[in-house]
Amino acid sequence: MNLEVITTGDEIVSGITLDTNFHWIAGRLTELGFNVGFHTSVGDSKELILNALEIAGKRSSVVIVSGGLGPTPDDLTAEVASLFFGVPLELNKEALYMVEERLRERGRKFLEANKKQAYLPKGATVLKNLWGTAPGFQFENKGVTFFFLPGVPKEFKAMVEEYVIPYLNKRCPNRDVYRVKTIKTFGLRESEIAERLRGIEREGIKIGFSPSFPEVHIRVVARGKEVDSLVSKTVNDIVSRLGDHVFSTEGETLEEVVGKLLFQRGLILSVAESCTGGLLAHRITNVPGSSNYFNRGVVVYSNESKVEILGVPEEMISSFGAVSAEVVKAMADGIRRISNSDLGVAISGIAGPGGGTPEKPVGTVFIGMSHSKGTESKRYLFKGTREEIKVLSSETALDWIRKFILNDV
Ligand code: ATP
Ligand code: MG
Repeated sequence: MNLEVITTGDEIVSGITLDTNFHWIAGRLTELGFNVGFHTSVGDSKELILNALEIAGKRSSVVIVSGGLGPTPDDLTAEVASLFFGVPLELNKEALYMVEERLRERGRKFLEANKKQAYLPKGATVLKNLWGTAPGFQFENKGVTFFFLPGVPKEFKAMVEEYVIPYLNKRCPNRDVYRVKTIKTFGLRESEIAERLRGIEREGIKIGFSPSFPEVHIRVVARGKEVDSLVSKTVNDIVSRLGDHVFSTEGETLEEVVGKLLFQRGLILSVAESCTGGLLAHRITNVPGSSNYFNRGVVVYSNESKVEILGVPEEMISSFGAVSAEVVKAMADGIRRISNSDLGVAISGIAGPGGGTPEKPVGTVFIGMSHSKGTESKRYLFKGTREEIKVLSSETALDWIRKFILNDV
């Protein structure tokens, strides 16, 4: 069964609005095992929409059209559909009632223009829109099923779920299913991963890499009748070969994984950042519910702030430098102490492009961790732009917290 999606709107074809309706429906239908054969986008023009419907009607068995069902003159879809199906537009009682009801609920007045939304091609099946005012409709024509849905993304999605997917499921109950699992890793290069995964391919499984700086994501894709056990076997196999470089097989971000671990173990974290300028705290607090395990983050960029806020000894900074194991450990201890947290994590480094020395070139970053059993520090040399070094530093700190909790608590 060949599916086709037609998205309409001048804003789509002129590049003003990103065609998220297509992006979303294509992913959703593929995931459910359906095949999207074609995608067409057309502007708000009768001629072009008609043309798109004619072409789609010849090559596809189900056609899903988004947009142009509103009350304004540039909403042409119903009119063009009636032209294409060779039936008149007719005031559809059900659609009219639905529009009135929706406007009443929202306390809006029924305008003459709204009546236009209730004119549908004669013989169409109304698809109630519980999420907005424009009714959708379904039409069978020469063995091809057409769905006309509103363009507003929230309404489009809801109506695909409500009407299109159940229809397709009924029509194609025994199709192949499609599964995709993403395994997220940090700390190994793509080539190292490829090396470790050599020979892992199985019949019916495709493995792909997608670098997502600074992580490498591995996609396991399968299509077939009974693929769930095949996919989970492959995922387990990959995880066992890559060990704790894998931080997620369920799509979570590293900060979400770290947050979950902290929450599960009842640990409170605070951080002190120099070269990352708050990026670590930003990432940690991107996770809803982080107040359950995150106490505070301070940006201690200057030497005085390290002394004043965290109690790092001034002499320590002058003898070892702000970017040193000693100072980053004192920062980690300091933030843990003043915040009364279980874990104190600190970052101090040279993000560049200036400021490097032969002993401590650009990219030198120290990360410190203070916990109930002591204080540790690690030294890294990251390559990249200033921003990349900041991202790598925050990622490495998060990854260390993750491994620390997994191994030590
Ligand atoms: P309305 O009743 O709001 O007029 P409609 O069915 O006529 O609904 P459009 O006028 O085409 O739909 O679009 C409504 C809104 O949805 C616009 O803001 C538009 O930018 C957005 N939109 C339309 N099509 C898409 C699409 N393919 N992807 C993302 N957004 C879209
Ligand atoms: Mg519109």
